[in-house]
This record gives sequence, C-alpha cells and structure tokens, in this order.
Amino acid sequence: MLEALIDFVFPARCIVCDHRPKQLCGECQLEPRITAVPGFSFPTFTALELEGAAEKVIAGYKDQQLTALEKPLAMVAAKLFLHRDLGRVDAVVTPARNSRNYRKRGFDPAQNLAKRALRIAEIPIPVLPLANSRSRHDQRSLSKAQRAENVHETMTLKVIGLSKVLLFDDVMTTGATIRELARACEQAGVAVAFCCVLAQRNSVN
Ligand SMILES: [Zn+2]
Repeated sequence: MLEALIDFVFPARCIVCDHRPKQLCGECQLEPRITAVPGFSFPTFTALELEGAAEKVIAGYKDQQLTALEKPLAMVAAKLFLHRDLGRVDAVVTPARNSRNYRKRGFDPAQNLAKRALRIAEIPIPVLPLANSRSRHDQRSLSKAQRAENVHETMTLKVIGLSKVLLFDDVMTTGATIRELARACEQAGVAVAFCCVLAQRNSVN
C-alpha cells in the first residue's frame, strides 16, 4: 500500500525498459538460473549472466546507487544460498572492501546483498567481510593474469572460531577474487563449504 503510494507520488523509471513507475518493473524481473561454475576446488554456483536486464540492474545498484534494486538482487542471492544445505555453515564471507569504490558508493554491495539475502532466506548467520592486508588496483582494465596478481594475498580473515563458511560475491569475471577469498579462509584454517556468485561476466582474456 505504502509502496504503491510512493510509486504514484514519486514515479521512477525502470532501469531496464525505461517505463514508469518502478526502478524495476513487473515485466523486467530477473530470471535466476542456478548453474555450477567449474574451475574451483569447492562447489561454486551463479544465478545470472552479466548481460541484458541483469547487467543493467546490477550497474544501477552499484554505480547509480539505486537502492530500490537491492531487494530483487538479494532475492536472487537468497535462492542461491538456499539451494544447498547450509546446516553447518558458520558465516558468509565477502571480499575486503575496496576503499576507493566504497568512498564513491557509500556502501559495500556484496556485504549488503549477502545480509539482505540472509534475512530474506531467514538464515541466522553473520556476514563477515575480509580485512584488507595489502592495497589493490581497480580490476576493470586488467587482464586475467594481471587480476590474479593484483588481488593475490590482499585479504585476511580476522574472525576466529569459525570452521566452515560460504563465500559470496556479486560479480565474478575471472574468479581471481573468489580464489583470494578461499585462500584467506584456508590460511585461517577455515573450510569453504561452497561459493555463491550473483552474476558471472563473460571472461576477459
Ligand atoms: Zn521494465
């Protein structure tokens, strides 16, 4: 009711099709399809290809700070979390914050999405972002080999008392960040149960 009133008084435009009154209209809802991603030493799953509507919604959320787009993305993440048995997972681990992106956005997308997805899925475990142990450059213009080197040994898990965790990130390109999450957990003696990534981008060279 309140939501309908807000849409009426302050109509937005759909990030995908440009129609009013919502930032994501009923016609353009995301259609998650959970698939396994090969190449990791633990099961890894994604639900979206980073193209079309999914790419626009994720860019709208991360780069234009359209926070109304957090809920539909978190609902996809909740589906990913719930499709495996989470019974013995102590926490969801997300990447260390990139300070330049954080200053620009004012929030940490992976952390916020994981928290909201856990609330939607009613899974009472914490979200633990890794700590930065070394600075890294923006990855966007880097090749696959450069990305791996750029992110390697940049993150640390500082929380003690965990035995098994779930890894989460919003977008995966080469998998370098996910490998660093896993390395940091293993270095801290914590096992990776499995990994969920909201969307996968077609690989860079
Ligand atoms: Zn639309």
